Amino acid sequence: MNTASISILLVEDSPSDAKLLQQTLWHLGGERWQVLQFERLSDAVDACSKSTFDVVLLDLSLPDSEGLNTIAEFHAAVPNIPIVVLTGFDDEDIALQAVAKKAQDYLVKGQITPNLLMRTIRYAMERGQIVKQLRESERRLRGIFEQTFQSMVLLTPEGIVLEINQTALNLCDSQQQDCVGKPLWELKNWSHSSGNQEWFKTVIAKAADGEFVRQELQVCGANDVIVWIDFSLKPLKDETGKVVLLIVEGRDMSDRKRAEAEVVKAWEQERELNEMKSSFVSMVSHEFRNPMTVIRTAVELLELYNQQLTEQQKSKYFGKIQTAIRHMLQLLDEVLFLGRSDVGKLQCEPTLLNLENFCSELTQSLQLSANSKHEIIFSFQGEQTSVEVDENLLRFILTNLLSNAIKYSPQGGTIRFDVICEDDTATFQIQDFGIGIPLKDQQRLFETFHRATNVGSIPGTGLGLSIVKKCVDLHQGQIQLESQVGVGTTFTIKLPLNNHGILPSLELVGSYWDSQKLA
Ligand code: ATP
Ligand code: MG
Repeated sequence: MNTASISILLVEDSPSDAKLLQQTLWHLGGERWQVLQFERLSDAVDACSKSTFDVVLLDLSLPDSEGLNTIAEFHAAVPNIPIVVLTGFDDEDIALQAVAKKAQDYLVKGQITPNLLMRTIRYAMERGQIVKQLRESERRLRGIFEQTFQSMVLLTPEGIVLEINQTALNLCDSQQQDCVGKPLWELKNWSHSSGNQEWFKTVIAKAADGEFVRQELQVCGANDVIVWIDFSLKPLKDETGKVVLLIVEGRDMSDRKRAEAEVVKAWEQERELNEMKSSFVSMVSHEFRNPMTVIRTAVELLELYNQQLTEQQKSKYFGKIQTAIRHMLQLLDEVLFLGRSDVGKLQCEPTLLNLENFCSELTQSLQLSANSKHEIIFSFQGEQTSVEVDENLLRFILTNLLSNAIKYSPQGGTIRFDVICEDDTATFQIQDFGIGIPLKDQQRLFETFHRATNVGSIPGTGLGLSIVKKCVDLHQGQIQLESQVGVGTTFTIKLPLNNHGILPSLELVGSYWDSQKLA
């Protein structure tokens, strides 16, 4: 203790006891002590707001407070002054309870010697200082514990929760009182499956043995959202090496996981795109090579044997050339169409169209280009014939579906093309009695390059239906497929309509249409 004077707050209502204490202090060197005495607790508390004291000597029986309450009240009002209780009797129980109520020490009146008084005051002040430092250190550490963005839980080596911070409480969507005292594996959401619970028990046992555990794991966060956390469990040992505490840390890494998943997805898409590009190039070059070969052979034959060939033979070769050119034009149109749709250039631009005329003319054109084995039977139902649709998109849809119906009915036969035009929907149904589509192939047919396994030698690139799907989507319509191998296939398209009346007649335009007609 330094030699500067010590200021003592003496709260004592008995003048004789107060005088005795003052005298004892005077014996210890009066100039070293500054004593201010009050008889009432309230006055003593008031004095603390005006002056600073090093220690309070507190009688428990005062006019305005009695017994252990006196300590509690004084400490609540002035928490930082060390308290030495003055009791009237040597009662161990009262002393212990006083210390429990935050008193630093106690003195029994009548047994106070100068030395005892000095020692008690000195120890009380030292203890008071230590408690103050501890409280400050606790405040700093608690600040870190509570404010960190990491989830933190302190466990006994058996895995019982001693402390849990706010971030961890938020993560497991719980309150402090629901967690403290419980095993970690019973915390709500953290252990959403029995597998998780067993895992927690195992790693806690490992950590209790001194092992450091770290693992990425999923927990069920608030609102049942799955959260990825970087989980670690560290054993804390005492000086003898015994594990006394386990520290759980959990860092929310969902954002990183999401970013990783997006990178992987983008990479997958890039890979798929590259694969598609290369298969696209080989497919398209193959599809162009075949008709080119047909054209070259036919032209060579016509050139070389022009004189010898009959008119019938010549027109057969010209027919072959025309079919090959038509095939290449169709392929070109499909590729161009896909390219435009991939760069987002394709739009749905509805205009008024006489649907009955449009479909009827389309039927005739396809009937002309089909061979005589096939018959397309067109029917139209509906009060109104003119509707708002995107003519080019609709042409792609119907031409592709009707060409497929013809192409995949190699034995020939009837193809039904039914159009029903209602107020708000146009329904197009194309039914053939051809080879059908196996069930297992049906799901992926609308993806580029996907062809059914039963096509045999029927040529095709697998682009048509993917374009049809894109056109239907642009029109916010629906496409439905029903098919049975060996029985036939029906495609049904429903397009929503926005009608503005009937137009008397409409011109049909479009490069694909013209190429079909020319061919
Ligand atoms: P193209 O790009 O020249 O149209 P494609 O006809 O092979 O080639 P899609 O029109 O996309 O490609 O059709 C995909 C696949 O769906 C076809 O390869 C075929 O297996 C199957 N398919 C489509 N329509 C029918 C149908 N009416 N009957 C049987 N199979 C069909
Ligand atoms: Mg096709």
